[in-house]
Amino acid sequence: MNAPQNLALQMAEKPNDQLLQMLRRPDDWLPEALDAARAELQRRGVDASTIRIGPPTICPECNSERIVAGEMTSDGENCFVGFKPGTLRFLSLTLKNGVRLSQKAYACRDCGFTWGLVDPGELGEFIDRHCDQRESK
Ligand SMILES: [Zn+2]
Repeated sequence: MNAPQNLALQMAEKPNDQLLQMLRRPDDWLPEALDAARAELQRRGVDASTIRIGPPTICPECNSERIVAGEMTSDGENCFVGFKPGTLRFLSLTLKNGVRLSQKAYACRDCGFTWGLVDPGELGEFIDRHCDQRESK
């Protein structure tokens, strides 16, 4: 089996969000893998070119399309702005208050729902270590 075919088979097993995640972090992947991911998304009718740029098109809270892009901010130099999963175990021993949010963020002009990005690897690690696994599934 040659490499491109092998890659195509691997991509065919991944869900859409995993393929999109690859395209959002192109530095982590070989160009051949990215091509295969793009081809697989195209085969499924997902237009990857529109997903990589710009904000999400619909508010997950109210379905409004009036989304504004911006960044997470805090009023102090070293203030931590992060995401703490709701399934954090009671009295879990962690000095971390959650997973740091990247600055990139979006807000809905209609309902005020605001969302940002965390590193998926860091989030997974935090959940594995400090959260109740039964509730997070
Ligand atoms: Zn909204």
